[in-house]
Amino acid sequence: MKVCKNYIDGQWMESVSGQYTDTYNPANGTVLAKMAVSGEEDVDLAVAAAKRSFYETREWRDMDSQTRGDFILNLADRMDACRDELAYLDAVDMGKPLREAEGDVDDAIHCFRYYAGLIKAPYGGVYDVNEGFGKMHSYTVHEPVGVCGLITPWNYPLLMGAWKMAPALAAGNSIVFKPSSNCVLSSVRLFEIFEEAGMPKGSVNLVLGPGSTVGNAIASHPDVSMVTFTGSTAVGQSIMRSAAGNVKKIGLELGGKSPNVIFADTDLEGAVEWAMIGIFLNQGEVCSAGSRIIIEESFHDAFVERLAQRANAITIGDPLENPDMGPLVSEEQMNKVLGYIRKGIDEGAKLVCGGERYTEGACANGYFVRPTIFDGCTSDMTIVREEIFGPVVTIQTFRTEEEAIALANDTEYGLAGAVFTSDLTRAMRVIREIRAGITWINCYNPTFNEAPWGGYKKSGIGRELGIHGLEEYQEIKQININLTPGVVGWYEH
Ligand code: NAD
Repeated sequence: MKVCKNYIDGQWMESVSGQYTDTYNPANGTVLAKMAVSGEEDVDLAVAAAKRSFYETREWRDMDSQTRGDFILNLADRMDACRDELAYLDAVDMGKPLREAEGDVDDAIHCFRYYAGLIKAPYGGVYDVNEGFGKMHSYTVHEPVGVCGLITPWNYPLLMGAWKMAPALAAGNSIVFKPSSNCVLSSVRLFEIFEEAGMPKGSVNLVLGPGSTVGNAIASHPDVSMVTFTGSTAVGQSIMRSAAGNVKKIGLELGGKSPNVIFADTDLEGAVEWAMIGIFLNQGEVCSAGSRIIIEESFHDAFVERLAQRANAITIGDPLENPDMGPLVSEEQMNKVLGYIRKGIDEGAKLVCGGERYTEGACANGYFVRPTIFDGCTSDMTIVREEIFGPVVTIQTFRTEEEAIALANDTEYGLAGAVFTSDLTRAMRVIREIRAGITWINCYNPTFNEAPWGGYKKSGIGRELGIHGLEEYQEIKQININLTPGVVGWYEH
C-alpha cells in the first residue's frame, strides 16, 4: 500500500508526530493509501526550507526565465509520460470518471506548458514622465513574491494544484503546498516528478494533513508572504483572518451557486445537453456548476421533461469503467448532499428525479448519489441559496428578461453563469448584467489556461490562469530614473 509522506527540503519525511491516517476509494469504501498527518511543526520545517531556498540558496529564484521556463517544460513532459498513472490516481482517489480525470491531467500539463512560455514573454511597462522635478524615465519590473503557501480542495486534485503551482513556480517563488486530505495521491506523484526532474532543494515543499492545523498554520505563518486558496467560502474567510497578521497577499477561489439562464428561443437539445454538463460533470462537485437553472416559463415543460429523461439515463458506476458519473468524494460529502435533498423536499420543492443514494450492484458500498432535479423552486429555499456541491439542480421560471437577471443575481456568490438564447444582442445584454467572473453564452463550463478565472462577491478575490494568474504571484516594482541629474533647486526659496 502506498505510504504518502511530506516532501520538505528535497527529502521525503514522516510528519513530526509520526502519525498516519487512511485514505479511501469512494467507489467502494476500501482503504487506498496511508497519509502522513502533519501539524504546525511540519509547516515550520517546510516554510524554513522554502525561505532558505528563496533568500539564501536562490537557485530557483535566480534562474534566468529562459532556463526556468525550459525546466518547467521538462516537468510537463515528465507529467505527460505519467499521464495514465496520474489520471488513474485521481479517478480512484476522488471518484471522477476516468475520461474526465484524463482531461484534467491534460489540462494540468498544458497549464505548466502555458506558464513555461508566458514567463519568457515581455512584461511590465515603460513610462516617460515629466513630474515637476524634471524629466524622468520610469519602468516596472516583476519580481517573485517569496514563500507562497498554496492550499487546494479535492474536486480537481491535480488540476487545482497545477493552476497555482505552475504560475507560482514560473514566477520564481518557493512554495509550500497543501492538498485536501481527501485526495493526495496525484499530488504526491507530482512531487515525485519534481524530485526526479531535480527541482532545487526547498523550492517545492509538500505538507499533508488537516486544514484546521496544516492549512491554518500556512495561512498564519509570518514567513509566508502569500497564501492562495481554493475551497469553500467559510474557510476562505478564515484564511483572510489568519493572513492578516503579516498582511499576506491573498488569492481566494471560493464557492459558487451559479445561474444557468435559458430563454425559450434556444435549441432544446443543445440547452439540455449543456445544462447536464453544467450540473452533472464531476458529479456536480464543480465550483462553477450551473446549479440554478432559470428558465423562461413557456419553455419550462418541454425542457424539464427532456432534462429528466436524460438525467435518468445517466450511467453511474466505478470511475475506472467510465460511467457518466462516479461516486461523491467521501461518505461525509454524500451525507451532506443527501441532507440538502431532504431539506429541498421539506421546504416544498418538487423532486423530478433522483433524490437518493445509488447502491445497485458493485456500487453497494460506494458513495453514489443519483442525478437529482428539483422543480418549482423559489429563491428563499435552502437548496437555491446554498452551494450543495453534488449532482443536484434547482429549477426556477421567469417571464421577462428583467426577472431572469434579478433571479440570476439573487445570490451571495458570483463565480459563474450562463445564458442560452439565439438572440445574440440579448445574450450580450444579459451576460453583462450577471454579476459573476466566468460566464458562457450558449455553452457551459469550457475553461482555458489563457483566460482569467475567478469570482465576484463571496466567490473570491483575484484571478487564476492567464496573464493575471501569473501576476498574482509577482510583486510589481516601479523604478524611476532621473534624466536630469544635479541640483533641483527645491530649497532655494
Ligand atoms: P474546503 O474549504 O473544506 O477545503 C479546501 C482546502 O482548505 C483543503 O485543503 C482543506 O484541508 C483546507 N482547509 C480547511 N480548513 C482550513 C483552515 N481553517 N485553514 C486553512 N486551510 C483549511 O473545501 P473542499 O470541500 O475541499 O472543496 C470544495 C469547495 O471548494 C467548494 O466550496 C467549491 O466551490 C470550492 N472550489 C472553488 C473553486 C474556484 O475556482 N472558485 C474551484 C474548486 C473548488
